[in-house]
Amino acid sequence: MELRVDLAGCTVLITGGEAASRRAVRRYQAARATVQRLERPGDFDPSMLDDVQLVAVVDDGQPGWAQVEQLSRLHRIPLTHEEAALANGSVTLVGGGPGATGLLTLHAAAALREADVVLFDRLAPTADLPDLAPAAELVDVGKQPGHHPIPQREIEALLIAHALAGRHVVRLKGGDPFVFGRGSEELAACVEAGVPCRVIAGISSAIAVPAAAGIPVTHREVSHLFTVVSGHAPLTDDEHLHLTGLGGTIVVLMGVGTLPQLAAGLARAGMRQDMPVAVVERGYSPSQRTTTGTLSTIVTAAGSARCQSPAVLVIGEVVRVGLNLAGAAQLADLPQPVAVP
Ligand code: SAH
Repeated sequence: MELRVDLAGCTVLITGGEAASRRAVRRYQAARATVQRLERPGDFDPSMLDDVQLVAVVDDGQPGWAQVEQLSRLHRIPLTHEEAALANGSVTLVGGGPGATGLLTLHAAAALREADVVLFDRLAPTADLPDLAPAAELVDVGKQPGHHPIPQREIEALLIAHALAGRHVVRLKGGDPFVFGRGSEELAACVEAGVPCRVIAGISSAIAVPAAAGIPVTHREVSHLFTVVSGHAPLTDDEHLHLTGLGGTIVVLMGVGTLPQLAAGLARAGMRQDMPVAVVERGYSPSQRTTTGTLSTIVTAAGSARCQSPAVLVIGEVVRVGLNLAGAAQLADLPQPVAVP
């Protein structure tokens, strides 16, 4: 449960053993209250209530808390009951969507609210994390392209260590955890360590970032399939041939660095030189930008626009559909794309 009240200047007495009350303690601290702890009913002394404005009872199963409740009522001190934190920790892999807080799912928001610790990535929605996860320690394990501040195996070890210490761990990732997100590796590590782990799907940038630029990945009678490809490493000529042969939309993630090889490879494989291509950078941020061209012009266009990661590339006739829609000014707040030559 979220605590949105500002308790600055209030003293709150929280009952319950350390493990059971830890989440309540962090939530009240996040609400700026001064927290006093009472871990055992036997340690209760009525004078403890003297300067207390609120009593938060965490029922951790110890007999004897009723006396604290009775006396609080007698002194007309407001009383609230808090759920005990579970003794067993867990890991929740959460897809955070493409960056905008509004594109988090309700399940993602609920998991964040309950989290004791959040390990988040560079492309995860981080702007509102302190509000979304008020009780959690926030740990940035983000990777810059080419730099790996925390290696993947260490992230997995961290997840497991926190969970084995009894914490509810949220692993917050950009987009969907199972789309180029190494989510399945983290799930496998948790399973191997015997840590309960669940997955909350997220909105993938593969679909959402083109949409933010007004480009549909499918459109009746234009494209009835889309393929999502990683551009992390250049594709093989076989792959260029297969992609070209499919004749549908191609969506490339992590593809800015390998765009020259991709454009040349698709051209070698016989793709039309005038096939529309769009590069959509920083989707859903104030600096979102769309650069467009054709298979033969996009490398120069992206170079002169200094396109950078993170960006989603879209190759296919749907790009023209998107430009026509945007041209008709039906979509509010769209960045104005450069016309396809
Ligand atoms: N699991 C993520 C993808 C991780 S790979 C998902 O499902 O979206 C990281 C790549 O995603 C980036 O290099 C970029 O290609 C793309 N990406 C993620 N967020 C983006 C955004 N807001 N704008 C543009 N591209 C984005």
